[in-house]
Amino acid sequence: MTSRQARRRYAVGRLRAATRRRRPPKVAIIGAGFGGLGAAVALRRAGIDDLMIIEGDDGIGGTWRRNTYLGAACDIQSHLYSFSFAPNKSWSRTYARQPEILDYLESVADDFDLRRHLVLGTKVRSVRWNSDTWSWDCELDRAGEAATLTADVVVCAVGLFGSPKLPEIEGLIDFGGTLMHTAQWDHGIELAGKKVAVIGTGASGVQVVPELAKTAERVTVFQRTPPWMVPKDDRPYSAAELAQFQRNPLAVRRTRWQIWKFQHDNTATFADDPVVAARTHVATSFLERTVADGRLRRVLTPDYPFRCKRVLLGDEYYRALQEDNVELVTDPIARIAETSVITAASREVDADVIVLATGFETSRYLSGIDVTGIGGQRLHERWGLDPSAYLGVAVGGFPNFFMLYGPNTNQGGNSIVYILEAGARLVASAVSRVARRGGYVDVRPEAEKRYNDQLSADLARTVWTHCDSYFRSPTGRIVTQWPYTELEYARRTWRLRPREWLHRTGTPPARLPGLPTRSTRRIGPLSGGIFGDLDGTGLSRRTKLVKVVERLVGVCVRPFGDRAVQVVAGPGVSLQY
Ligand SMILES: Cc1cc2nc3c(=O)[nH]c(=O)nc-3n(C[C@H](O)[C@H](O)[C@H](O)COP(=O)(O)OP(=O)(O)OC[C@H]3O[C@@H](n4cnc5c(N)ncnc54)[C@H](O)[C@@H]3O)c2cc1C
Repeated sequence: MTSRQARRRYAVGRLRAATRRRRPPKVAIIGAGFGGLGAAVALRRAGIDDLMIIEGDDGIGGTWRRNTYLGAACDIQSHLYSFSFAPNKSWSRTYARQPEILDYLESVADDFDLRRHLVLGTKVRSVRWNSDTWSWDCELDRAGEAATLTADVVVCAVGLFGSPKLPEIEGLIDFGGTLMHTAQWDHGIELAGKKVAVIGTGASGVQVVPELAKTAERVTVFQRTPPWMVPKDDRPYSAAELAQFQRNPLAVRRTRWQIWKFQHDNTATFADDPVVAARTHVATSFLERTVADGRLRRVLTPDYPFRCKRVLLGDEYYRALQEDNVELVTDPIARIAETSVITAASREVDADVIVLATGFETSRYLSGIDVTGIGGQRLHERWGLDPSAYLGVAVGGFPNFFMLYGPNTNQGGNSIVYILEAGARLVASAVSRVARRGGYVDVRPEAEKRYNDQLSADLARTVWTHCDSYFRSPTGRIVTQWPYTELEYARRTWRLRPREWLHRTGTPPARLPGLPTRSTRRIGPLSGGIFGDLDGTGLSRRTKLVKVVERLVGVCVRPFGDRAVQVVAGPGVSLQY
């Protein structure tokens, strides 16, 4: 991207930055997937340019860099599974495959001039709020070497599907063949002529099985619970469609809008919603139409309500299961031997390769990062097994700390990119406020509680309570899902609602000129006279008074006329609401 294009993209942000008198806050974004890149663009558009995007991998893309298994693709149509500010007129098919999505993200990084913010191959180990400097001390790990970084704001965009989940099956680690999780695909393994066992029939499982069926000698799919499935209109765009997308930007917008509308109209999460019944019918007739064998149909019919677990898409999976070299086994796995999988009914299935399509540890939010907020309180201790946050973005007591794809933001039926963009908008709104007025913002505990109480009450009415799934924490609480529409999320995150946040302005204790830090301050009777340790410094009585007030209320004050002092940040208080 030329610097001229970058200037144009961020023209409004540059204007905002130019009219601001303060030093812009320094922002550390953790993660360079859809979330981190989206947050960086939102912040730069708000005129916040002092950014670092810290990424543990050696490249950007997150989910789409790591998940390279055969058949990996999105299951929301590509024109919606992309940023609204970066429409892609070149999507080659309705549901893009992994390489194309990764290419798209690489092009976003180029087109939006994000590369200069990237710090790759660096993992954030911990972030700790420093109450003296009002900033975050971050500990990093760069190829085994420790480093530190200080940032005014931390935006954690580490995703929900970063830690592969391994099943607890006896003998798994003693398996003598190749064992791989879908998120850690080994492309060096030759699959032709091999016997492959696939464990799990979730989103990755139903994508990988049809591809394996094309190459492997034999594929055995071990199913614990069948997914609800609906048809996927996966096809390459015709030459005429592609030409139209190239010629007419409105055609791209229109397609995106049509997909969004379809998803929106079909999003239903409450058990009594008629849409759930209608979509159940679509899924049942799809199964009847596609699977001829009655026995196979029976074992593929879920015994839990539609939408209770993630609904999957694909005609190819059902078709693959009917191929001669593919078998679906519903008998539970008892153990794994050196060269086979043994079921509870003592059936032994030979395997050269075991593919674990067992998903991810989804309820362990920010699992790799130790976050410590005000007063030394640790986020994971506070959460226990049940993470929660205000709009999935902020937790009280963790100022200037934001999350994307945080607790209860996974959407039931629409593109998560839409949700990530909305969350990034709220983050940009909050950071803009900090840029304008200084200090920090912290969500008010009562606003967070009010929000979570309502959320919990509504979640209790959702269809997700009717079965077990990765949406629930070990205690049973639904911790990943957003029960309302994506539009509702966008509405609530449109901008920061000042009533729901505490904004503390002024000067952090450590930055007050010539003063000891807050932790070492001594005032009043502790040190004798009213001016404490300022006595004997030779300062005038008025200057000493100014400094004592500064220490007491924690804001920047300055002499005002002959009489007293003026609080710079506001009318006599340091806290703004
Ligand atoms: C196979 C698969 C298919 C999917 N398909 C869809 C779909 O069709 N539609 C949909 O809406 N969603 C889908 N999802 C969900 C998908 O994860 C999101 O859509 C989206 O990619 C999330 O982006 P993200 O940036 O939040 O997280 P990620 O893409 O996971 O990116 C997080 C980044 O943070 C980095 N990171 C993590 N911890 C640290 C650390 N401590 N220090 C530094 N960096 C760190 C990671 O390396 C990673 O690059 C799919 C998920 C998977 C696994």
